[in-house]
Amino acid sequence: MIEPINPINEEKRLEFLRKLHILETPVEERFDRITRIVCQALDVPIAAISLLDSDRQWFKSIQGLDVSETSRKVSFCGHTILQDEPLVVRDALKDERFCDNPLVTSDPKIRFYAGCPLTIGDNFRIGSLCAIDQTPRDMTDDQIMLLSDLAAMVQSELNNIALTEAHHNLIHDLKEAERAALIDPLTRLWNRAGGQNLLEREWDYAIRKGTPLSVAMVDIDHFKRINDSFGHCIGDQVLQKISEILLGSLRTFDVVSRWGGEEFLIILPGCEKRDLYHALERLMTAVRNLKMKTDIGGLTTTVSIGAATIYPKFDADMSSFIKLVDMAMYDAKENGRDQFKVDAKSNYYQLAI
Ligand code: GH3
Ligand code: MG
Ligand code: MG
Repeated sequence: MIEPINPINEEKRLEFLRKLHILETPVEERFDRITRIVCQALDVPIAAISLLDSDRQWFKSIQGLDVSETSRKVSFCGHTILQDEPLVVRDALKDERFCDNPLVTSDPKIRFYAGCPLTIGDNFRIGSLCAIDQTPRDMTDDQIMLLSDLAAMVQSELNNIALTEAHHNLIHDLKEAERAALIDPLTRLWNRAGGQNLLEREWDYAIRKGTPLSVAMVDIDHFKRINDSFGHCIGDQVLQKISEILLGSLRTFDVVSRWGGEEFLIILPGCEKRDLYHALERLMTAVRNLKMKTDIGGLTTTVSIGAATIYPKFDADMSSFIKLVDMAMYDAKENGRDQFKVDAKSNYYQLAI
């Protein structure tokens, strides 16, 4: 195995990467949809957006593997960032750089690799968009072109600020390790403390600017039955799948956090009540349409949602607002599940306007 060397601009490259404030941030649909396209379009089981940190590669998005990082020494992408052109390895076992690499000789048993460098700023190759397979294969010129085009899309997303001001500030105010502590390892969403921190910031922003803010609590129905019938491992996969579906059904700057075991808190900044109804309808439909295959048969599920919108024209109390959202969710449960309730049993919304 040959370990990747450092690019000549390594110090400045790392400085630039740090300033992007992207390491240790939650998953984002705008990146996940690109890695999903790589898997579909190139028919590969694994695709990733890998960012090369000083001694690790950290995945902003990854399909087909449940890992968030590996050491840089064993990374294929560490080699990709040493060149302008895509790196294509037809069969890793026949390449002296990778033949005895542990990622090749044991899980995930990489055999084929194609990666395009992600170049931004002053020619800094901060990482790569890559496609991986467990059998050797060739890539046509058209396929390499497709991967390069998608890498260009990742590059422009990296240059975009797709988050609200409050969310952007949260990420910038925290150090990487502090951010890491606020991310749920299973779903890679903000965990409860992260969601709470962001909600406080969005709340303050809404009060200051007088803009609406909608919040929804999503609870998976009869989740215990899923664990009991299909096992905890499938239960975990359902949690991952539902979090992807929630993210994919919302606007880029809406935020999903894992609030509890099978509960998600969704923050929809600037979202009016009328738009909230549409968003919740989309969520419910997307979850109902999820059909997972397991060894012991198909699996479908539903969610119950409680939600409320606040137009903060005067001082309001965030924790009572959240309690109302929670109450609305329990209303939806009591009323038969697989439904949403907005402002149920409350006149808070009317009071607030
Ligand atoms: P309801 O429709 O009333 O919400 O019923 P429920 O079964 O979804 O709710 P309940 O609170 O009774 O059970 C939630 C279950 O979620 C119990 C717990 O074991 C499971 N759970 C919590 N966290 C995880 C997790 O990380 N992975 C898995 N697989 N299960 C989890
Ligand atoms: Mg629950
Ligand atoms: Mg539940």
